[in-house]
Amino acid sequence: MTEKHTAYIETLAHMNCGNCDSYWGLSDLSTETLEGRVLYCPHCGHEASVEDIVDGIESDQ
Ligand SMILES: [Zn+2]
Repeated sequence: MTEKHTAYIETLAHMNCGNCDSYWGLSDLSTETLEGRVLYCPHCGHEASVEDIVDGIESDQ
């Protein structure tokens, strides 16, 4: 066996709704394309622009 694994680096955004506080994920995005962008929350339909882009994943514990 000489086949090696292939890795693709993907940027994943963990979105947090400003209205219902639910999470959802967005992939294939960069900070530049996300900042100020208007998105709908898939849980409650709340429409808002992206304000805070937080570095790293915060623990909920
Ligand atoms: Zn929501």
